[in-house]
Formats: sequence, C-alpha cells, structure tokens
Amino acid sequence: MSNLKEDILETTTKTLDLKKVRAEFPVLHQEVNGKPLVYLDNAATTQKPNSVINAVSEYYKGYNANIHRGIHTLAEKATAAFEETRKTVKAFLNAAEAEEIIFTKGTTEGINLVASSWGRKFVEAGDEIIISSMEHHSNIVPWQMLCEEKGATLKIIPINEAGEIIFEEYEKLLSEKTKIVSIVYVSNSLGTINPVKEIIERAHKVGAKVLLDGAQASSHLEIDVQSLDCDFFAFSGHKIYGPTGVGALYGKRELLEAMPPYQGGGEMIKEVTFEKTTYNEIPYKFEAGTPNIADVIGLKTAIEFINEIGKENISAHENELMTYAYELLKDIPGFRPIGTAKNKISVLSFVIEGLHHFDIGMMLDAQGIAVRTGHHCTQPLMGIFGIEGTIRASFSIYNTKEEVERLSDGLHRIVKMMK
Ligand code: PMP
Repeated sequence: MSNLKEDILETTTKTLDLKKVRAEFPVLHQEVNGKPLVYLDNAATTQKPNSVINAVSEYYKGYNANIHRGIHTLAEKATAAFEETRKTVKAFLNAAEAEEIIFTKGTTEGINLVASSWGRKFVEAGDEIIISSMEHHSNIVPWQMLCEEKGATLKIIPINEAGEIIFEEYEKLLSEKTKIVSIVYVSNSLGTINPVKEIIERAHKVGAKVLLDGAQASSHLEIDVQSLDCDFFAFSGHKIYGPTGVGALYGKRELLEAMPPYQGGGEMIKEVTFEKTTYNEIPYKFEAGTPNIADVIGLKTAIEFINEIGKENISAHENELMTYAYELLKDIPGFRPIGTAKNKISVLSFVIEGLHHFDIGMMLDAQGIAVRTGHHCTQPLMGIFGIEGTIRASFSIYNTKEEVERLSDGLHRIVKMMK
C-alpha cells in the first residue's frame, strides 16, 4: 500500500493503474448472481481497501483497550492511535486545531449534535433556519425538530431545473432573523456542487452561522474549512473508504466552547459530584462514553489511502466515467437525467420514462450490477422533480470503463425487453 501512489501514477499522470487499485479492494472480486460484481453504489457507501480492513483488525488483534483512562501499555497505544486520527482529520479538513475535531457516528450524528447543542442554546422563537431543497433527510429532520421545539421557522432555498440553488432566492431569504444556514456541499441525489463559499460569505454578513453537510464532498473535493470559513462541517468515514459508524464534526473553537454538552457520561466530565458536574475541554466534552475506537483508527488509514492517490486524481477518474456513462446511456428511449448542474461530481441520477426505478434496479442486480434506486433520503427533492425516485449510478476510484459498458448494455437490454 505504501507505494500505491507511485505505482498508480507511474503509468501516466492521467491514467490510473486500475488493476492495482482494484487489488486493494477484496469485496470487488466476487460474482453476484453468477456475474462479476459491478459496484456502482458508491454514494451510499464506498468499499474498503485492505489497509483499512487491516488497521481495524490489527487494533483488535494487537492492542484492544479502552482509551484515555488507562495507564497500561495497551491503553496508551490505543489512545495514541485514536488521537493520531484526530490529527489526520484536522489536516484532511485543514482545521486550525485538532481540538476542533469531534468524533461522531457520521454525518447524521454531527448535524444532530449541532442542532441539539448549539441549536437549543442559540435558537429562539421567531428565529429562522435556512436549508436547501436538495437536503438529505439528515439535514432536514433535526432542524424541523428544533424549529418545533423552539417556535423557529425553517426556510428552504429553491432550485432550478438543473438542480442548482437559485442564489438570488437564497439572498432574499437571509435576514437578521437567520440563525444558521445548514446546507449540503454536494448533493447525493443530483451530484450538484453548491457554491458554498459564496453561501457562507452571505450568511456571515447577516450574522448567521453555516453548517456544511460534507458527506458527499469529502471524498471528491479538497476541503479547507478555514478558507471556506464554515462554522461546522460534518462527514462520514464510510463514504471515504473508511469504516461505517464513524465520522467527524468540525466546529470553530469559540462555538464549540460556547455549546453545552450533547450527551452526558464518562469522558466528557472534569469532575462529578452528586450536586454538580463540571465538563471537560473540547473535544472531549462532546465525546461521552467509550467511542468507536477501532473504526476511528481505520478512518486514519482511509484518509491516508485518499491522500496517497490524491483527490484530484480520484475525481478526474470518476468524472471521466460519469461522462462516458452519460454518452452511453443518453440514447436509451425514455432516459432522463435528474441533476444536470454545470458543477457536479460523479453521480448519475436518472429515470427511464414509463419504467419503475425499482424494477430496473432489480433487473440490474440480476446481472451483478449494484446501483441505488429510490428517493435517496431526499424525498422533498424528488417531489420537486415530480418523481418518486431515480436510478443512481455513482462512480468511485476503483470503477472501470468496462463496468460502465456493463451498466449500459444491461440497461439497453432491460429497456428493449420492457418497452
Ligand atoms: N448527507 C448526505 C448528502 C448523504 O449522502 C448522507 C448519506 N447518504 C448523509 C448526509 C448521512 O450520512 P450518514 O448516514 O453516514 O450519517
């Protein structure tokens, strides 16, 4: 794994040695329904390289111990590995300090943490919270719950037919009542990359905070929370080649320090008496209980995997596959892409008029091709497009042109048979 980048890049700077990349992902080398697996559900979760699988298993085999509290050797080793990940995530997001990184279960927990802790303290009746039309349910429901509790109002940024936010409409929604703008950096259903830097600038002008849902952005785009100047940024490990059940929330130090704890328990305290408890410093104030130690350790290796190949190489490869897929699919009778933003990542969402997405998904699965079908946890967005769901092929570093051709052949066959 250590020379993976050199190996991959030695062919040419543009062409990846996909054989070597694919060799790192054991799950890809299997047959599904009698056909070699084509895994195109990467926006839901990416597969894991050997280095990540090994890091998790080495922790359990070699130094499983609870962290922070122990003084014995294994506990110290586990604590050091856990805290190393915090430094790696800090660098991955270009945060100013490692203390601004809180480990979570994933993006969903990160957003819930901010809505519960920051939201309960700083949002009052009559305040407004802005989200966009293309949010994942995890960036809708926590804010609805907060609005209901506080008597605040949720405002929605509209989008155009291409699936891009209408910036002038966003600007109209902003006012001194706006407390927070919580918006997806990259849409999981459409692939749209939102102009988050401009969104943040405008929000800050009215004194609002900004949370970025980075679930889809973090494996495709360079993230720099300082240059973006976002107040919070949440992402999930499992979308960036890391384990499930682990992610991180970035928050600016002064905000995290002003926020009350999210959960009470061990580790988040300084001192407990039955009369009064004082809380730990950040980030530990937000990390009650024994965390997901093994998967936090695996997250570091996942980030190293990305860094070794380079995000620009990853996204160049994925974009090439998406363009190729679009070329091959666009002549299928009834093909309609959903999400045609100028600035987008390698998510190809589409419907085939007259056919149900579930049927197509099942028939593709029968050919060993894994795509996602349905509303992708963005039901309001599907409503705006007047559909129930889409078929979504999402590409990753280990996908090949041959796999795109398998998808295209499969779809052509299905449509011919069903129409
Ligand atoms: N936001 C977006 C844009 C997503 O794609 C997802 C995962 N599909 C989430 C949030 C939630 O992530 P998780 O389930 O890992 O918490």
